[in-house]
Amino acid sequence: MSHKLLIIGSMAFDKIETPFQKSDIIMGGAANYTALSAAQFGVPTAVVSVIGGDYPTSFLRLLTQRHIDISGIEIDPQDKTFYWSARYHEDMNLRDTLDTQLNVLAHFKPVVPAAFTDAQVLMLGNLHPQIQIDVLAQMTHLPFVVLDTMNYWITHTYELLEEVISKVDMITINEQEARQLTDEYSLVKAAKRILAMGTKYVVIKKGEHGALLFHEDSAFFAPALPLSEVCDPTGAGDVFAGGIVGYLTKTNDFSFENIKNAVIHGSNLASFCIESLGAERMLSLTPEDINSRLYQFRDLTQFDIKLC
Ligand code: AMP
Repeated sequence: MSHKLLIIGSMAFDKIETPFQKSDIIMGGAANYTALSAAQFGVPTAVVSVIGGDYPTSFLRLLTQRHIDISGIEIDPQDKTFYWSARYHEDMNLRDTLDTQLNVLAHFKPVVPAAFTDAQVLMLGNLHPQIQIDVLAQMTHLPFVVLDTMNYWITHTYELLEEVISKVDMITINEQEARQLTDEYSLVKAAKRILAMGTKYVVIKKGEHGALLFHEDSAFFAPALPLSEVCDPTGAGDVFAGGIVGYLTKTNDFSFENIKNAVIHGSNLASFCIESLGAERMLSLTPEDINSRLYQFRDLTQFDIKLC
């Protein structure tokens, strides 16, 4: 088994409305955001996804320029790329999906490139759970598997999603989705219910309020960096997951202690994603930007406790 990362997820056209602006149709999709984030760690990475004949090659180039293997991206010239539109509330932790058009995703049969069937880390990004199961079945060595999903799949494919959760090491899910999945309002109870479904680590994303990591009877909290302006939170969850899987692939250490670090790296990268519309900020990131913000994270969270 070698240090490789395989990412599956949607590749999309998105249309976003925030209280401050409306986008045109822009590049989106879980796989794009996750791959652009994981690319910061420089590990061999491949994406498995599907696009229509309408998907610009300039968007694909954003991946190949970062040495991401796109041989697992199927192009279906007869159909259209997945389309999603959403509107954010004044409280940008909340959004409503306005439209989901599965298009090419409705009949996608994923094929994992031969060079990545032994990847050490597998990111099962936001897609139909049957596609996630099909990819898992193609892996020749058992990787460390991280799962992400969305309200759409919880509503439409609950039983299949439960099956995937039982097969993965970690799930990242936002707080509304954790409540929808478990019918529990308390996030601690929701996490326990999800752990009982068979996964080892549960990360509950709370937008600007950070993320909670649960494992057995332990918990860890990673704050989100307080930012004065949020432009567009779209993709932050996928970028967060990309930071986790990129870091875990690079460090090859899947202990709880190291997963805490991974969650901080994910939070750090997500803090950049929300600064611009779509994936724009992810395209201009430098290692200096990333490292200086990691120090800000350290300063934000470290303190000496004095007992009195
Ligand atoms: P996030 O903001 O991290 O939850 O991710 C938003 C991205 O997920 C957008 O770029 C969408 O294109 C993509 N997306 C939205 N709904 C779905 C869905 N049902 N399946 C797969 N991807 C989706």
